[in-house]
Amino acid sequence: MKDFTDLHSHSTYSLLDAFGTPKQIVLRAQSLQRKALAITDHGSISGWIQFGKACSEAEIKPIFGYEAYAVDSLAEMFLNKQRKKNHITLLAESDEGYRNLLKVATLAYDNFYYFPTIDWNLLCENSEGIIVLSGCWSSKLQRLLANGEQEEAEKWAVMMKDVFKDRFFLETQHYDLHMQTFDKLKVLSERTAIPIVLTCDPHYQTPDQAYIQEILHAIRDKRTFEAEKIIEKAFQWESQQLFDYVSEKFDYDWDRVFSTTAEIAERCSAKMQTGSFPSFISDSNLSGRDLLLSECKKGIERYGLKGKGKRYNDRFKRELEVIEEKGYVDYILIAADLIRWAKENGTLVGSGRGSSAGSLICYLLGITSLDPIEHDLLFERFIDVTRTDPPDIDTDFDALRRDLVKEYAKQKYGADKVCDIATFAKFKGKNSLDEIGKVYKIPRNKIEIVKRYLIERSGGDMRVELTIQDTFDIAPEAKEVAEEYPAVLDACVLEGQLRHLAVHAAGVLISTRPLDEVIALYKRDDRVISSFEMRDASSLGLIKVDFLGLDELSIQREIFEMAGREMLDIYKIPLDDLETLQAFKNVDVQGIFQYVGDSTKSVLRQLPYVDFEQLIACLTLSKPGPAHSGSATRYIAKMRGSGNVGSFDWHPILAEITSKTFGQIIYQEQIIRILREFANFSVTDANTCRVLIAKSKGEQEFHRYYPIFEREVKDKISTEQAKHLWDSIKVFGRYAFNRSHAASYAMVGYWSMYMKTHYADEFYVCKLNHEAKKEEKLRLLMDAAKKGYEILPPLLGVSGATWAIEGEKKLRAALTEIDGIGEKTAVKMIEEGYSCREDFQNKKVKGVTVRALKALETAQGFQGDIPKEDFFGIHKYDILDILAPERVKSEDIRDWDKSYFIVTAGRFVEMNYKDIFEERASRGQSTEGIKNPDKAKYAMLLLEDETDRCLVHVDRYLFDRIGSDVWKAYNEQMFVVVSGVKVDGWRMVRAREIALYANHQEES
Ligand SMILES: [Zn+2]
Ligand SMILES: [Zn+2]
Repeated sequence: MKDFTDLHSHSTYSLLDAFGTPKQIVLRAQSLQRKALAITDHGSISGWIQFGKACSEAEIKPIFGYEAYAVDSLAEMFLNKQRKKNHITLLAESDEGYRNLLKVATLAYDNFYYFPTIDWNLLCENSEGIIVLSGCWSSKLQRLLANGEQEEAEKWAVMMKDVFKDRFFLETQHYDLHMQTFDKLKVLSERTAIPIVLTCDPHYQTPDQAYIQEILHAIRDKRTFEAEKIIEKAFQWESQQLFDYVSEKFDYDWDRVFSTTAEIAERCSAKMQTGSFPSFISDSNLSGRDLLLSECKKGIERYGLKGKGKRYNDRFKRELEVIEEKGYVDYILIAADLIRWAKENGTLVGSGRGSSAGSLICYLLGITSLDPIEHDLLFERFIDVTRTDPPDIDTDFDALRRDLVKEYAKQKYGADKVCDIATFAKFKGKNSLDEIGKVYKIPRNKIEIVKRYLIERSGGDMRVELTIQDTFDIAPEAKEVAEEYPAVLDACVLEGQLRHLAVHAAGVLISTRPLDEVIALYKRDDRVISSFEMRDASSLGLIKVDFLGLDELSIQREIFEMAGREMLDIYKIPLDDLETLQAFKNVDVQGIFQYVGDSTKSVLRQLPYVDFEQLIACLTLSKPGPAHSGSATRYIAKMRGSGNVGSFDWHPILAEITSKTFGQIIYQEQIIRILREFANFSVTDANTCRVLIAKSKGEQEFHRYYPIFEREVKDKISTEQAKHLWDSIKVFGRYAFNRSHAASYAMVGYWSMYMKTHYADEFYVCKLNHEAKKEEKLRLLMDAAKKGYEILPPLLGVSGATWAIEGEKKLRAALTEIDGIGEKTAVKMIEEGYSCREDFQNKKVKGVTVRALKALETAQGFQGDIPKEDFFGIHKYDILDILAPERVKSEDIRDWDKSYFIVTAGRFVEMNYKDIFEERASRGQSTEGIKNPDKAKYAMLLLEDETDRCLVHVDRYLFDRIGSDVWKAYNEQMFVVVSGVKVDGWRMVRAREIALYANHQEES
């Protein structure tokens, strides 16, 4: 028997049809000792990069393929609304074939009708370097053979052979159906001298996974699992088994066929095509380096940094060296140019999100707005010399104007060299459970039981996660569900598989070569997107710029414009404005970007004074990590001058590194500095250690660096001290935060407060106009009311389509605040000059609906201040009747300063068990006893009411009685009314009674 190679196989990129990531399919091939493997996903090449990488790790030859959807004629397809497509298997033989496949995949998306589709003409026009296998059971050839149209089949095969020459093969598969047409195929092969090739078309990897494909199909077709629909034998076969199997089915020279697969694999030599970093386009004839230098010079003058001394000089030189060596000069120039253009053209740009804030050169070029030396931000966080992937310049743009910047990039670099980026949604835990629940008809409440134990994290949050499997392992209730409904366990296999294609919210790719020569381009909702996801694309040498849209920046631009100031003045706002800092000190943070959270407020309340440094710290100290590890408490105690526990200032170098943070380690930058400046670690090692500490499972590897540490510090400190310091680095490093990121966001938050302080009218108006959530709007209104603003109701003839200032300290509501009146209708009424009810009878205007009229009529009663009904639809004073604590007077409600007995209402947004669990788990402590919240003895919940948040403590006696209600309220986000006793000095209630209300439909 000869070697067999799978020339036709599917991965999870054949969305909801096949099971197995590119890596998983390669691992299976490796276990079968394959020398080569092809990937041929349906209408998609998106798995190629990961497949290529997995193959090179496994030392298997990758064959880049594509199973196309094809019709005889695209024109006819569109004319006749032809949904039915033929499949055909295409493989890249050479680099040219690879590029042609990219082209074919791109053109298929240009002709999208239910599927990305091609026709024979299109394929033949781009035939060079492509090997064609005639296709699976859904191919044109097999259809004709099955229908007995032998002549037609031969005609088509000959046509293909004429074009593709020795690169065309007749494909058969081991399935029963193919065996039925095999004699016809044999005849065809003999008459045309086109060789036969066998493929298995695996859609999953091992025989026992067949049911998973059926699950995927059931999800795709929105139906339940049907065992009889399972497609068997569609796995990666072991060669000998396959040989025996087909030999038994049909007597043929299978040895010959097997060698054909190996020969084809041998011929395929296409490699991944890479782009190269685009060059910056400019009118000047300076080189990239000189241009960078001249731009930096301008920056030095602009910021008055001339003669700032050695620190700036050294830093500049070092950054330049790294940037040049790594080849990022053009990348940085491109980013700087985009940002410069944005700013000059009325688009407010954030201060530079994330690590780019650590670069002096980025600051000089205007990419970021904070002096990294003054603010202790490290360059190493920006360009990690240990890594090959390009640095991230993530930039927040005014959300309303972001697309203009993208357009500028297209104009400058060419529309064919700029595109949006694809992203694939994956099955996550909760989502997998929901789908499995539907597929197997498992009762919803059972699924909910399992779901509530899951802990999902998103976007770089490194804290402990609980996967579905963990859930079944640790939670007896979940286990019980699994015992009753074993099918629920199938959710585990779905986790991490792909679901659907989407467009990345912010990323844009820029290339020097036309993009369709490096990647295929898909079309989605009229947008051109890359076939590869961000990480895959950037590994091909394309650059990615994140154009994040931030509403906050649109609001701030509008506030400044409304106040008659230049948008560019925002960058000149002084960071030591006393009124602004005082407002932070007063925790006047309603509507302030990044500072509205309850934990942020709590930190602000405790700080003895506030300056910009404290604002950076505040964003960090309010994160769950520093709160749990106690560094927040110690920071504040030290700042207040009480307590010196756990400080790092016992050595001069450490004291210097922690001088701004009262001896505490709260930033990742401090970890790097200690390792570098105190223990002489190389940049590489320091960075590696920082990453290891942050990982929940990196501890062991981190400790491998201890001997180096010990050796380097032994002249400075004792062995005990070294050991102690090392452990502390580990403990505090885990929760340390990226200072660059915090500083950038503190700045945008600071701008926000500056505006609230100096342009309050404009602040409230713009905030109210942008705020879509009714709850948030009410909070803003209450905040304004507290400041003495009068809130005027929407009034026909007076109100505009947006909120407005009407005389001193008077805010007039927009007509759109009336339910049922949208912006269009409001504008119409204003344009037509409606001022009273009669106008509706007299003027016959199209576009103003009956619904709007009704709404307006109802609103006649809406006079004066905020409506009596609260936003949950329950009358505030009714709450007293419900709970009837005779001691409570209505004035007591939510008056935290005066009353002893409290009634408050809202929704539980957090339940304690998760926090306790994760804190313990991340410290490696036992989670025994808290793994079952239903058996918890008490609960601590976070209640969000209409103005703030407070803690609700449910003690063991009450919990005993209403524990399950509390869970229900939390899980279903029900509205609750809590009455109880206030705890001194805290926003906390010891609950006496909790009442649940069914969810009211909130209007949007
Ligand atoms: Zn197929
Ligand atoms: Zn297939």
